[in-house]
Amino acid sequence: MNPLRTMVTVRPLSAVRQYPLIIQSPAPAAPRLGRGRRVIVVVAHADDVTLFCGGTVARWADLGVAVTVVRVTDDSLDSAGVDEATTRRCNAEQFRAACEVLGVEEVVDLGWLTDRLSDESTVAIRERIIYHVRRVRPFAMASFDPDSRLHEDNLDHKVVAAAVDEAYWTSMFDKHHPEHLDEGLRPHGVYERWYFGRQVADVTEVVDISTTIDRKVEAALCHDLMLRNIVHQLRLQAETGGYGVAALDAAQDGDLRPLFDTALRRSAEATGARHGLAMAEEFRVVPSRRTRGPPRRVTVSRFLGGSPRRLRQASA
Ligand SMILES: [Zn+2]
Repeated sequence: MNPLRTMVTVRPLSAVRQYPLIIQSPAPAAPRLGRGRRVIVVVAHADDVTLFCGGTVARWADLGVAVTVVRVTDDSLDSAGVDEATTRRCNAEQFRAACEVLGVEEVVDLGWLTDRLSDESTVAIRERIIYHVRRVRPFAMASFDPDSRLHEDNLDHKVVAAAVDEAYWTSMFDKHHPEHLDEGLRPHGVYERWYFGRQVADVTEVVDISTTIDRKVEAALCHDLMLRNIVHQLRLQAETGGYGVAALDAAQDGDLRPLFDTALRRSAEATGARHGLAMAEEFRVVPSRRTRGPPRRVTVSRFLGGSPRRLRQASA
């Protein structure tokens, strides 16, 4: 007999307790985004905030949440038939106008050349995001989902996603950019990350935007230059495909509202239909407190009643 065998107790596998894979926090209710909180939304381009999460940003503003939007690029190339200097200026103005419609409290323009972020240092972009996280000290940060790349064809979006994801934890390190501390800033820990994208891989939060879809549409229509460039691209593709679309032809130099009002509402309806809501936007929130079951609906209507805010422009 092996003497070692006598020293251990061997239990059959069936007797081993099957622990759940997910360990639920013993903490009572996790803190949630609400009145008095701050959110920093980091986007690559002027129209990203409205198109990806405009309905939710407007709900946050209604809720009393102070929203800062950081635009990483200058959008100087996003137009059709307009020179770069005019494009840069108009897109900046239209970005501010859209943010005002959504109830954003503050905008920051970092000014990197658009559609070139993949040639820039991600660490340098991350430094600017860390700086503003430490300055704003938000409860949550929102940006592109770094794990939704399968559905993302815009390199600027991918670079911003990676930079934001790293800024989330490096903002807490006192040895990352101590020059910020010399300015009086302190390391800051963001509590939640809200990820959006063309198709969020793992939806954990669904926001009902029925009450804010009108503002999302109005904010989108502020982006006259960028929307006309979208129409221009769609018409080029239709031309190559050998067909025409009357609605696109009418929108190119005419009223953009019929086309984009319909498109945005249908998109919100399609998202809402997946969750039994009239209109919605989807997010992957980390850390997620959802462990099982369908995505939780975030109903915030009982908190409505925030006062209007005046938009501020912070230095980059
Ligand atoms: Zn974009």
